[in-house]
Amino acid sequence: MGFYSCPYTFIDGRICGKGCYRQEGCALHWKIRPRTPCGECGMPTTSSYGMCVKHSGKYRRRVNYQQKKRDELRAKIAIFENHIPDLPDSMHEEEKA
Ligand SMILES: [Zn+2]
Ligand SMILES: [Zn+2]
Repeated sequence: MGFYSCPYTFIDGRICGKGCYRQEGCALHWKIRPRTPCGECGMPTTSSYGMCVKHSGKYRRRVNYQQKKRDELRAKIAIFENHIPDLPDSMHEEEKA
């Protein structure tokens, strides 16, 4: 069995480096999707617009983006349930982060 060090990169650029049995990362991080480098400075980011926190400001359409995602989700659910459901407040969680 191989022994790896967690390649997870924090938002500030630090690497987790914790010993782990999964190549993907430690127990805490292996499930987290890989980050894409910021289009401007190369800082790894999970941002959906491909920019780090510092550089995403001018590209930020977060509210619109969330709204769009919700609309897409509603549309998908509506296909199955044949009506537009109310989505739970937990959909807002990500906006606060
Ligand atoms: Zn880790
Ligand atoms: Zn950046």
